[in-house]
Amino acid sequence: MVASRIAVLGRGVVPVTEPALRGDDLGVLRGDGLFETMHLRGGRPWLRTAHLARLRVGAAALELPLPPDQVLVELLDSLAAGWPGEVEGALRLVCTRGPEGGGLPTVYATLAEVPAAAKRLRREGVTVATLPLGVPATARPELHWLPAGIKSISYGANSAARRWAARTGVDDVLWVSSDGYVLEGPGANVVWLDGDTLCTVPAACTGILPGTTCGWLLDHAAEAGLTHAERMVTPAGLHAAAGVWLTSSVRGLVEVRTLDGTPRPPAAHTPRLQELLGYE
Ligand code: PLP
Repeated sequence: MVASRIAVLGRGVVPVTEPALRGDDLGVLRGDGLFETMHLRGGRPWLRTAHLARLRVGAAALELPLPPDQVLVELLDSLAAGWPGEVEGALRLVCTRGPEGGGLPTVYATLAEVPAAAKRLRREGVTVATLPLGVPATARPELHWLPAGIKSISYGANSAARRWAARTGVDDVLWVSSDGYVLEGPGANVVWLDGDTLCTVPAACTGILPGTTCGWLLDHAAEAGLTHAERMVTPAGLHAAAGVWLTSSVRGLVEVRTLDGTPRPPAAHTPRLQELLGYE
C-alpha cells in the first residue's frame, strides 16, 4: 500500500496529519468551493486538461478566483512526483473560497491509492436502485441564480444518497427526476447502449455534472464500433438497454448488473469499453 499524500498551495507537500485549511475556512463552514478527482495512471493524471477546464467553468459560476492553471498543474505535479507508475491513484484537487474574514482561496491536493473495492466493482459490476430527486429534470438549470453542473464540495445530498444505498443493501443509486427521467448517480454518470448507440444524459439541460469519463468515452465510441448520443431516459428505458454502466474517474466504467432488484445479463460490450478507457 502506497502512503497517501497532501500538498497545499504555497506550502508544498506536507505531512498528511498536518491541517490543510483553517477552521474558519468557508469550504468547511459553508461547503463553498469546488473539487476535481482525477485518475492517476502511469504516474500522470488522466484527462487533466478536461478536469481543469471543468474546474474553470465551476469557478466562473461561483465567482471563485482561482490561480492560473500552470500553478495548479505545478501543485499536482509536486504531489505526484515519485508516485509508483504501476499504482493507480485518486488525485483530488480542492479549491475553497478561503477564510471567512477574506483572503485568497484555499487550494490543496490529495493523492491516495485507488481502493481495491473500486477495482473489484469494475470486474463484478454493481447493484443499483433508483432514488427520487424530487425536482423535474430541467428545473435546476432553469434557475438562473443557481450554479448547476459544477463539482461543488457541497456533497451533503450525495452523501445522504450513498448512506441510503448502504442501508438499502445496494452498491449505488441513480437519481430520478419527478417527471420520471434518470439523471446521474451521486458520484457517477450513467451510460447505456441503445442498439449501436452509446448514450448518456445531456448535462446542459438537466444540470447534472458533465462527466469527464463519459465525455471521453462517447467521443471515442467509434473505436468500439458504436455511435454516440445524448438522450433522456426513463428507468424502463434502462431496463430495455443492452448494457447500462456507471462512469467516473476513479471507478472507471462499472456495469449495472442489477437495477431496482431486476438482474441484468452481462453486457457483451463491457470488456471492450473498459479496455478503450484504459482501466485495468
Ligand atoms: N456525477 C457526479 C455527481 C459526480 O460526483 C461524478 C464524479 O465524482 C461524476 C458524475 C463523474 O464525473 P467524472 O467522470 O468526471 O469523474
